[in-house]
Amino acid sequence: MKLIHASAFVVQVNSNYLKLKAGYLFPEISRRVKAFSLDTPHADLIRLGIGDVTEPLPLACRTAMKQAIDEMGTDSGFHGYGPEQGYEWLRESIATFDYKSRGCAIGADEIFISDGSKCDSSNILDILGESNRIAVTDPVYPVYVDSNVMAGRTGVANESGRYEGLTYLPINAANNFQAQIPQDPVDLIYLCFPNNPTGAIATKDHLASWVSYARKNDALILFDAAYEAFIQNEKLPHSIYEIDGAHECAIEFRSFSKNAGFTGTRCAFTVIPKNLRGKTLINEQVNLWDLWNRRQSTKFNGVSYIIQRGAEAVYSKEGQIQIKALVNFYMENAAIIRSSLSDAGFSIYGGQHAPYVWIKAPEQMSSWEFFDLLLEKANIVGTPGSGFGASGEGYFRLSAFNSRENVEKAMKRIECL
Ligand SMILES: *Cc1c(COP(=O)(O)O)cnc(C)c1O
Repeated sequence: MKLIHASAFVVQVNSNYLKLKAGYLFPEISRRVKAFSLDTPHADLIRLGIGDVTEPLPLACRTAMKQAIDEMGTDSGFHGYGPEQGYEWLRESIATFDYKSRGCAIGADEIFISDGSKCDSSNILDILGESNRIAVTDPVYPVYVDSNVMAGRTGVANESGRYEGLTYLPINAANNFQAQIPQDPVDLIYLCFPNNPTGAIATKDHLASWVSYARKNDALILFDAAYEAFIQNEKLPHSIYEIDGAHECAIEFRSFSKNAGFTGTRCAFTVIPKNLRGKTLINEQVNLWDLWNRRQSTKFNGVSYIIQRGAEAVYSKEGQIQIKALVNFYMENAAIIRSSLSDAGFSIYGGQHAPYVWIKAPEQMSSWEFFDLLLEKANIVGTPGSGFGASGEGYFRLSAFNSRENVEKAMKRIECL
């Protein structure tokens, strides 16, 4: 970050922001792509980098939103501020379709509707004490780390980009991308399955070992299930609450961004079980639900009625068919990416229950070297694994969020490398 010599009359800033690593991943990608495009203006670039969806919104959602807009134009159908927790009809649908259907005892009153999992997974720090020891996997979704840095819960970063005060749990091919339970005790653990960026999936046993650790150590699991809809095997856990005891030690984040293409529409939800407890400095027990409800009531005014109606339509009969088709479309892209890369001789991971394929860069090549190679030789933009953490070095992420045409074209180019 740029530091300018300050005059005496400016306000003090949150200095924690200055600890954030300067060359953040996506700006650096843009810089290199821009430089390449200036040199090679006619290159036909294919972007398989950023984790945003590409296909249009499902018809069921659009129809519901249009109806909601018309309702809003009538005296009887107008809606002002909604309930801070979200409308009950949406929370009921979520509880029924996402939880009860999989045997999880989650009630509508344990669900909080929001405008995104990115914000929820950052904002959750508001209700958690400052002295908690925090564990993240490495590589990791950068939001978990940066939100802790901004909140002053870390020291400074070292040369490899690791922040003092965080416990990093390496995930790699050797441990099947399932982090080992830490030796040092930690209080907060961020887990993301299906995983961004590695595309890995957790077995029930793996999640059970975390739940058991959390219960033994009075720890809290922050479980990000944004890619739950991409799981192709019904036996794999879609929710942390499929594990016995998770109600007492886990918060779950879910989103309509990836399953229903709501990245630009904005709707998500967070589950906080009623019997999930934390403790105060003098060891009194407090319900986290009460704190989050208080937090949301003060700092959040809910998601638009129109958008919540759109999200509710995800659970209609048509909506379910349409989101399955969307997910299948992206998973076919992932299968094409997997088979082409593996034919080309790459070691690949993920992409079977997640829209991301995690690739080992060719021998001795760093993530950024492989980025430059793909950009220059194949005009493909991907994401360097090292941008997700020190242990991502030597790896590369390709996303299945793209048109079929682009995916096929990109894979032909890789086969000709
Ligand atoms: C895309 C994504 C989300 C969803 O974020 P929204 O703010 O709901 O769009 C959450 N977690 C991970 C790891 C993601 O990649």
